[in-house]
Amino acid sequence: MNRKITLCFAIALSLFLLLPFFTPAAQPQTPTYVAQGRGGAVASVDRLATRIGIETLQAGGNAIDAAVATAAVLGVTEPFSAGVGGGDFMMIYLKAEDRVITLDGREEAPASAHPQMFQNPDSPTGEPLPFSPNRISSGVAVGVPGTVATWVEALRRYGTLGLGDVILPAIYYAENGFEVDQTFANQVQQNQERFSAFPATAALYLPQGKPPAIGSVIKNPDLAKTYQIISSQGINGFYRGEIGRAIAQTVQNPPTVETPPFPVIPGGMTLDDLDRYETRVRSPLVTEYRGYKLYGMGLPTSGGITSSEVLNILNGFDLPNLDRVKAWHSVIEAQRLAFADRNAFLGDPEYVDVPLAGLLNPDYAQTRRGLIGDRAPANEKEFRATAGDPLPFQSDPSPSLTAVPKTATIGDHEGLSTTHLSVADRFGNLVSYTLTIESTGGSGMVVPGYGFLLNNELTDFDATVPHPNTPEPSKRPRSSMAPTIAFAPDGRAIAFGSPGGSTIITTVLGIGCNLMDFGMSLSDAIAAPRISQRNGGGTQVDSGFEKTELGKELMAIGHLLEPMPEIGAATGVLVNPDGSMVAAAEPSRRGGGSAMTVSR
Ligand code: GLU
Repeated sequence: MNRKITLCFAIALSLFLLLPFFTPAAQPQTPTYVAQGRGGAVASVDRLATRIGIETLQAGGNAIDAAVATAAVLGVTEPFSAGVGGGDFMMIYLKAEDRVITLDGREEAPASAHPQMFQNPDSPTGEPLPFSPNRISSGVAVGVPGTVATWVEALRRYGTLGLGDVILPAIYYAENGFEVDQTFANQVQQNQERFSAFPATAALYLPQGKPPAIGSVIKNPDLAKTYQIISSQGINGFYRGEIGRAIAQTVQNPPTVETPPFPVIPGGMTLDDLDRYETRVRSPLVTEYRGYKLYGMGLPTSGGITSSEVLNILNGFDLPNLDRVKAWHSVIEAQRLAFADRNAFLGDPEYVDVPLAGLLNPDYAQTRRGLIGDRAPANEKEFRATAGDPLPFQSDPSPSLTAVPKTATIGDHEGLSTTHLSVADRFGNLVSYTLTIESTGGSGMVVPGYGFLLNNELTDFDATVPHPNTPEPSKRPRSSMAPTIAFAPDGRAIAFGSPGGSTIITTVLGIGCNLMDFGMSLSDAIAAPRISQRNGGGTQVDSGFEKTELGKELMAIGHLLEPMPEIGAATGVLVNPDGSMVAAAEPSRRGGGSAMTVSR
């Protein structure tokens, strides 16, 4: 305890001393996407956030302290991807105990949620509400936020510093401002119409009714106040006091302009729903692949399970020694089959009897592998694989009664939102942390007076029923977030993850294959083109990939490649057995990220 207090003072003091340097002008001019060094490593999408993570480590904090400090700054500088109005999954590796812990800070539906909550009240046949703008910009889409609970729980259990210490720099930036960059301005521009429907959002992000100019300074004193309340009152300050009341009020009576350009449907979240919220400490999912041990996040995210099924299928192919076309063909087809299962079976484990043992059984993977031919499926109909039957592979004397769906639904709406940060400290602890408010800009609603956007995470439920991922009271919607920690046979430890809706899973898998099968460095694996098949029609790829030799050869064996502007601005950190470290961020997607180490 004494050590904890001493460290608290140390960091508070150093951070105060450093405050004059935390100005927009003091940002390094040349962003670094890859850094090598020692003593700690941080990679995130934002330079200020990465720097605060590093400074937290330098001031004596551990990886958990630095992860929360970094995330708190992202809540200020990347408010359209993450913040206290959203949710998350945090994976922690504690070196001294050689233990991986996962925290589930997923948003939760209110007690008033029900399977028909996304039906259009004006539709006589009960059609679902149009996804955009009606579902995404509504009170009904807002889940009880989990991020503050994760921060408090992570620091209380595994950190060395208090929340008040680690969010101090974020308070400073909220109060004194930060410089608008191209990505920030673009994100406001994409959201201009819906942001202008909410005066509190427009006041913050549409100065003079327009997106802020690049280079202008945005201040958010309301968010500084929110952070201060959280820092002095902890969980209660957010879930049970004035902030909680303001959240419930915003959800129930969306604070729109007098005549919003679209109807904004209210939700039913109450202070009781907020009061009930808890972080869940869950078991990680372990997969063995080519001598690596991979830790993934379990339900309610489909991230770890789907990745694990894909790797189990790929375990039967010798990817490193296949030619690249055959290797990537196998990856694409394994993704297609695993996504059919994901879409059919996965949901909140507290509500749904998910046949997990069957889905992850290597013998089941073998049956799925047997469906992969030499070419992509021949026609449009077969582009959508059917879910398998994992029940006989449950090895369970009283098997699940879950009905096996014949066809799999898709129900995904991809975004480029969310953010992933990765941290290593001098002890070898790691944090792999994905956080989100769902759409870029979440629900579009800033809580008036408190400066943060509310999520629209409940749009991750399936609006069609019956389905394992149908909305129910207090249920957590199925996610795709996939924070991952991998241990290589040679002793390297790697934490990585990505944003991007359900493309998160295929991005994380792609990085994994690049590292484990194709021997790429972490930074090359992150920069490499994405190839994403999610049991949809075609296979999405980074624009330009379709013109490469590999792209053309994949098309020649029947793959329909759909170029996308960008998929998955990922980050990762790697710790070598000798203690040297690499931090790697995205070089160009979403404007490029930032990677730093404590010392060179
Ligand atoms: N809501 C998504 C999920 O939990 C993340 C949003 C995104 O990355 O676009 O999987």
